[in-house]
Amino acid sequence: MEVEGAAILTAQPESSGAVETLEEIYLRVFRQLRPRTELPEVQVQFKRYASANAQIRWESGTLRIRLADTLEGAPSGVMEALAEILLAKLFRRPVPPDSNLRYRRYLNRDIRRSLDVVRQIRGRKRVEGPQGIRYDLYEIFEELNFRYFHGLMARPILGWSPYASRTLLGHYDPSHNAIVLSRILDRIDTPRLAVEYVLFHEMLHLRYPAEHRGARRCVHTRDFKIAEREFERLAEAQLLLRAL
Ligand SMILES: [Zn+2]
Repeated sequence: MEVEGAAILTAQPESSGAVETLEEIYLRVFRQLRPRTELPEVQVQFKRYASANAQIRWESGTLRIRLADTLEGAPSGVMEALAEILLAKLFRRPVPPDSNLRYRRYLNRDIRRSLDVVRQIRGRKRVEGPQGIRYDLYEIFEELNFRYFHGLMARPILGWSPYASRTLLGHYDPSHNAIVLSRILDRIDTPRLAVEYVLFHEMLHLRYPAEHRGARRCVHTRDFKIAEREFERLAEAQLLLRAL
């Protein structure tokens, strides 16, 4: 993200180009269950359901999947588990128990589970827990979620970076579904508004994924920028970041 010439936040490039789309996940699971059936067309839509709802229908060669947008930030392992559950139900097959477990666990995710995941990825990625010295990222996330996302955003992994970086104040890592904020924001004299703004910006990365236009990858899409302008006291927050 550019704030008047100064690179303040940069989104982490995706780890590889080989990330499966949701449609591809459904096709792969479909092929496993029905190897001799012609592959359908797959349409996945996110809807504003009040709870974590998921529906599947198969009509005239098209598989229509509707998911609550609370599931939008779910990691691909959870999405795959959900695809297995929905397709098993559609074809009246037994639901694989570990898919059920994985999906349930995601829905009932709590602080302890997120910490487990943080611990699990720590070997590959340096992240510390959400409870900082001054700020608790869970608390700020929930407040922003309520204020700007109707409380519907599924909570990603949240953590503080172990080092206080001035150049990278925050990033969203889609491969781990994690938002990491620089420890430099977790200081006694850092205004809460600055932390809120950086976290809000990264939440928008989760809400508005990068778009590919030909060979170019657009990280801050038009929708992203429009949504960012909804942040209250935006100009004041940007000034604070420049002063860091
Ligand atoms: Zn950004």
